[in-house]
Amino acid sequence: MRENVAILGLGTMGAGMAANLLKAGCSLTVYNRTAAKAQALVSAGARLESTPAKAAKSASVVIGMLADDAASREVWTGTNGALKGVEKGATLIESSTVSPAWIVELAGFAAKHEAEFLDAPVTGSRAQAAAGQLTFLVGGNDRALEAVTPVLKAMSKEIVHLGPVGSGAKMKLINNFLCGVQVASLAEALTWIERSGLDPQKALSILNSGAPASPLFAAVSERMTNHNYAVNFLLRLMTKDMLYAQTEAATCNVDLKTAKAARSLFEEAVAKGFGEQDMASVVEPLRAK
Ligand code: NAP
Repeated sequence: MRENVAILGLGTMGAGMAANLLKAGCSLTVYNRTAAKAQALVSAGARLESTPAKAAKSASVVIGMLADDAASREVWTGTNGALKGVEKGATLIESSTVSPAWIVELAGFAAKHEAEFLDAPVTGSRAQAAAGQLTFLVGGNDRALEAVTPVLKAMSKEIVHLGPVGSGAKMKLINNFLCGVQVASLAEALTWIERSGLDPQKALSILNSGAPASPLFAAVSERMTNHNYAVNFLLRLMTKDMLYAQTEAATCNVDLKTAKAARSLFEEAVAKGFGEQDMASVVEPLRAK
């Protein structure tokens, strides 16, 4: 595929996505606030630029994969932000998990630059990003999506078009709301199991093959049991997702009480120093009580 693609943000997810774009033959330009993280990609053939504006220049597709609303705002609209460099007619894709309100604002900025815009957050984690097996949840118009489908295919197993701009962001927050609540409740259940006198292995095996089972339950219960907090999903990012989910659901007059409760567990873990570890470490402050 001979497409000029720029990717902004080479964290846990962006690095894997960028590697798959290179493998697919894209001419790839990368930007990351911490430039050192781009080393492996540069060795594999990517061009590293020092600002988002420079990275976006002459790319027909520009993808953001950043931490949160503030990071996305900075990278797209900051002094040397990507919007300063985008070409007319380019397609801008925000794949970060950000608030739908920010997505709508960003789409407005893209329109002013005569660029197409899609929100396309992803499901899947570090392993799926590395394997090109993500699912894109897309909001935006058909024409823009059709133009970038080969680029998205290089990083994914599935592309779901959910509706107009903002639809992907909304769907992603609903998805992560359920994930966050499940991880927080699993942390409480596991702490309870460990103190109950039950055999933890037997108890988890029953839960993992019973009604509460899910791919998330299986992966996270194993990490909690083994105290393995190597980062697949940063704990502080789940705190952010719970907050964005609460804010977005409130616009539909839905009070996410369970997200509020889950967020309090994640916030406690951040306060105890677990923000930069995997979200599974949310169990540790409970174990310490
Ligand atoms: P990450 O490893 O923390 O990477 C975040 C990226 O944002 C890094 O490139 C970071 O730059 C950049 N960044 C943060 N603050 C910035 C700022 N103020 N200015 C410029 N750049 C900034 O996160 P990730 O796991 O790759 O996740 C990226 C997005 O995808 C998040 O919205 C996350 O919620 C979502 N997501 C994650 C997963 C997952 O399993 N990890 C799955 C689905 C969706 P530095 O390298 O300089 O810090």
